[in-house]
Amino acid sequence: MLPFFKKKVKWVPTPNFGERRGGVKPSMIVLHYTDTKDTQEAIDYMMDTTREVSAHYVVEMDGGVIQMVKDEKRAWHAGKAFWRGERDVNSHSIGVEIVNPGHSYGHEEFPDVQIEAVVKLCKRLMKKWKIGAADVLGHEDVAPGRKQDPGHLFPWQLLAGQGVGIWPEPTAMDFEAAGEILAQNGGFSGLFRQFGYDPDATKEERVVAFHRRFYAEKFGGGGDPDEVDVVSVAKVLALLRGM
Ligand SMILES: [Zn+2]
Repeated sequence: MLPFFKKKVKWVPTPNFGERRGGVKPSMIVLHYTDTKDTQEAIDYMMDTTREVSAHYVVEMDGGVIQMVKDEKRAWHAGKAFWRGERDVNSHSIGVEIVNPGHSYGHEEFPDVQIEAVVKLCKRLMKKWKIGAADVLGHEDVAPGRKQDPGHLFPWQLLAGQGVGIWPEPTAMDFEAAGEILAQNGGFSGLFRQFGYDPDATKEERVVAFHRRFYAEKFGGGGDPDEVDVVSVAKVLALLRGM
């Protein structure tokens, strides 16, 4: 049995929320890391009415799940954001904070038990609100250049394998097309916008956000996060093909 079903979701309500503008239903899930020492620090932060920050759910390192805002309400987790034409990401999404020390305290691998709980929670929300796999996103996706969570250690490929989020599987044809695109100077830059990234972000910000999620080998000394290569282009082509 997975921990999410063993433990009940704990309800810790925060006053930090509003109404979804236009009465819309959530159509995206945005995953974050808390960037805190522990769960309590994250909860305190989201209870603080002077900060105007919150999320619907918090997933603890031991797999415990806490709910702070009702799904129907608008939590304040995305900030200034954009995804595929939508700027009011908070009205259209459910925010899930995953406890991790983040880049402030030393970004760590996420424990398996915590990832299992994230998968279970997302699957339940996807079913309840009819949210597609492609609409499970990271904060980094909707705020390139400004945010880097849930971070390059977040196991997006593993999640996609379980139907939560998507993962590119480029074919030989994608690699061939990528080579041709790279040969035209800068011919790739529109592809990342087409996938969904903010057109107002810089080209480098979009590329780094894309790499952090889909090509994490570029981080941690394994490459240059803002350098586009044939694998980057093949991956974005594979994703666009699946849209
Ligand atoms: Zn975040």
